[in-house]
Amino acid sequence: MSNPAAKTLSQLANHQEFIQRHIGPDANETAAMLAELNVGSVEELIAQTIPADIRLPAPLAIGDSRSEAEALAYLKSVAAKNKMFKSYIGMGYHPTLTPNVILRNVLENPGWYTAYTPYQPEIAQGRLEALLNFQHLTLDLTGLELASASLLDEATAAAEAMALAKRVSKNKKSNSYFIANDVHPQTLDVVKTRAEMFGFDIVTGPASDAAKHDVFGALLQYPSSSGEVRDDSALIADLQANKAIVAVATDIMALVLMKSPGQLGADVVLGSAQRFGVPMGYGGPHAAFFATRDAYKRSMPGRIIGVSKDRLDNNALRMAMQTREQHIRREKANSNICTAQVLLANMASFYAVYHGPQGLKTIAERIHRSADIFAAGLKAKGVELLHNHWFDTISFKVADRAAVIARALAKEVNLRTDLSDSLSVSFHELTTAADIAELFAIVLGDDHGLNIDALDAELVKNGSTSIPASLLRHDAILQHPVFNQYHSETEMLRYIKKLENKDLALNHSMISLGSCTMKLNATAEMIPVTWPEFGALHPFCPLDQAQGYSQMITELGDWLVNITGYDNISMQPNSGAQGEYAGMIAIRKYHESRGEGHRNVCLIPVSAHGTNPATAAMASFDVVLVDCDKSGNIDMADLKAKAEEVSDRLAAIMVTYPSTHGVFEASIRELCDIVHAHGGQVYMDGANMNAQVGLTSPGFIGSDVSHLNLHKTFCIPHGGGGPGMGPIGVKSHLAPFLPNHPVIKIAGTGEHNGAVSAAPYGSAGILPISWMYIAMMGSEGLKQATEIAILSANYMAKKLDPHFPVLYRGANGRVAHECIIDIRPLKEASGVTEMDIAKRLMDFGYHSPTMSFPVAGTLMIEPTESESKAELDKFIEAMTTIRAEIAKVESGEWALDNNPLHFAPHSMQDIFSSDWNRAYDRQVAAFPAAFVAENKFWPTVTRIDDVYGDRNLICACPSPEAYR
Ligand SMILES: *Cc1c(COP(=O)(O)O)cnc(C)c1O
Repeated sequence: MSNPAAKTLSQLANHQEFIQRHIGPDANETAAMLAELNVGSVEELIAQTIPADIRLPAPLAIGDSRSEAEALAYLKSVAAKNKMFKSYIGMGYHPTLTPNVILRNVLENPGWYTAYTPYQPEIAQGRLEALLNFQHLTLDLTGLELASASLLDEATAAAEAMALAKRVSKNKKSNSYFIANDVHPQTLDVVKTRAEMFGFDIVTGPASDAAKHDVFGALLQYPSSSGEVRDDSALIADLQANKAIVAVATDIMALVLMKSPGQLGADVVLGSAQRFGVPMGYGGPHAAFFATRDAYKRSMPGRIIGVSKDRLDNNALRMAMQTREQHIRREKANSNICTAQVLLANMASFYAVYHGPQGLKTIAERIHRSADIFAAGLKAKGVELLHNHWFDTISFKVADRAAVIARALAKEVNLRTDLSDSLSVSFHELTTAADIAELFAIVLGDDHGLNIDALDAELVKNGSTSIPASLLRHDAILQHPVFNQYHSETEMLRYIKKLENKDLALNHSMISLGSCTMKLNATAEMIPVTWPEFGALHPFCPLDQAQGYSQMITELGDWLVNITGYDNISMQPNSGAQGEYAGMIAIRKYHESRGEGHRNVCLIPVSAHGTNPATAAMASFDVVLVDCDKSGNIDMADLKAKAEEVSDRLAAIMVTYPSTHGVFEASIRELCDIVHAHGGQVYMDGANMNAQVGLTSPGFIGSDVSHLNLHKTFCIPHGGGGPGMGPIGVKSHLAPFLPNHPVIKIAGTGEHNGAVSAAPYGSAGILPISWMYIAMMGSEGLKQATEIAILSANYMAKKLDPHFPVLYRGANGRVAHECIIDIRPLKEASGVTEMDIAKRLMDFGYHSPTMSFPVAGTLMIEPTESESKAELDKFIEAMTTIRAEIAKVESGEWALDNNPLHFAPHSMQDIFSSDWNRAYDRQVAAFPAAFVAENKFWPTVTRIDDVYGDRNLICACPSPEAYR
């Protein structure tokens, strides 16, 4: 029998399958949404939305979409080109064992990795607790009073320490900062870059000379980069006597055994938490820790988690003192940091929780013993060591350096080789006796005749350690119960799950955060991240061992060049804010190269994200604000006037496109022309690329440089507040000014350019996520994603507008990929605030949209292409139900202080209390819409008191008694 509809094998293959998985609405839902908007096709909607003069003339050149299996198989073959040599390079990066319970249940678990930054703390108590544990751990190990919840990497943390020193030092005359010449080279370089932008002078030299200089601050390293452990307490005191602020970069594992830098007198202590269970990943992502004195709390960079109270007087955690941060203080902020490294800080804190003080001590002692054995063997053979005291790193002199390195490489072993007068070996958690024997063979030859057990026994017998007695730690660390009760895997698994249950992430419901693009982080995209071929590489390994990385980075870079319309990409910045910084440096250096170094004004529209002015300030630009008109567009008359006013001092404009108001402004080309006509450069903030990909591009529009938030548009998950990647694209004239790196040279940029991040390719370990996304979407899928993102936002705007007016629209009444709804009129009429709405959404199982950015008293909604129409409709139902509740407050049926909005969110404790005497019943409180019951999410605390938390700042774990 013949079947006319029968298909061939190739017709039956679905090459577009991933596109359909990534994009939420199917054909029927898309048609229904288009009908709601009275347009006949997606193309018609896009034509109404994006100005014709910026539409790309040709499709992207990414190629066809690949299936999940195809893309994974190809990437696996690329990854296989990486050689996984044993690494003893050290320099802040060490092999480590991620406990499997943490690997699978945190790093590979969407409940952890798809969460957003905990700005809505009532539905984020789990990760806030894990971060508080991270701070507690930091305080115990550093011996200081106040810790923050993670910075981007050790080198940028050191740069932040310098900025803090300048703010708080009583030496106001000096403009110089001292850096000891035995800090890691990448740390020195990143701090130098930062200092140059601030106009500080850097003085380097032996640490012992530090106090001879008149400086506002100094950076020391303990143990030093080449491994020396020395007591710098007298030096620190001398520096402080000269009013200098002393920062100490340190090793988190060494501190388990060694006296804390705080006890030695340091004012700031910082370092990387990588070796607490986070894979090296060819440079990141890893969390940096940072601690200082309580007196400097207002000058602290980054986020601080604090303990406060909820409405029922329970302890409840939140981000404290946000008034220091860029989103509030803008160009006066302490730093531009926004996205940091939350997921990795959580992993490190879980590592400490799992091992506990005793387990950590055993690990640290094992590492230290390996170093001692190795040193004893070398000494026995007459090899000269650089230092007498160390923790894990032995630097030694050899006559036949080249031969030793060759023997190491032949055995697939990497030593540290960049020190001019020695080689160096850093021991780590995975080192075995056999590894030590192999290292002896490498350094001394096969017939070295040393016996590991005998050397070990001798050390045990003498009871000696190479850490000086005065520097051994005597105080107990990690005595808090949280570090002492989850040591069996069962207990640990349940602790992780308990915290996960408190948090709302994308695996529960849509998180429609305007400007933050919380889209699908597909499982296939995440899989390569934990392949050892990507995870196990040291960022400074020889390049021929990292060919897989080079290829993946090159391919991704080429795609991003095509997508952005730029000529070159730098993968070094490890967040959007870092990308802005690298971009503004390039602009500054470009002007300088043309003899126009006097250009120092940066125009920034009032609606800009806080990182923009904070970054401009970090690169020493004067910020001049540009107004917006009534419809939210940049006021072109004001722009022209300001540009003319500063004219030959104009360096740049930082502009977001489509605007932070969610509109494709028709004047964008004109804006670029005006700035260029005055000799300025255009920095286009790429956070809103999700509205551009495949339809227009910054390069095509006429911009000179942009960062991309790969953790927004290109599917790297937010991780509860990081990691992220912020590569920048530039036109060719800026390419010579992209960051370079002191250890791994980067082709195509100025040889002597400074670094902005510790690792040459930033958080390279998460780049496979974006690679997979682009490969699986192909040219067509990427364009469709943008179209549907715009369709969904317009559908949302259309459905909500009758209830909550949409604030800004483009020329044809369309919004871009997000829309702002105005709560101010309702607030006026009813007293209900945008905060009440945000908290009430939690009772429906939703995370609030972006609140009061970029306009106070509004919510900004970005549904993204990944959410189905069914999900959008549920959210719309929640919002319209809330509108009806507000109406009851307006009409007086409910008092302003006795209604479900006022008391939102409702925890179980609240609902089940026996003295319920509210104007609304419990059903309304906890199950406000029919759809809620079938998948109820319970906020674990009621509304948190922000003021109490800031007045009574506590940033360590509260004592268990405090909970009852
Ligand atoms: C997210 C965002 C940034 C900052 O990016 P991070 O990666 O968080 O540092 C900058 N500008 C805009 C408009 C953003 O939305």
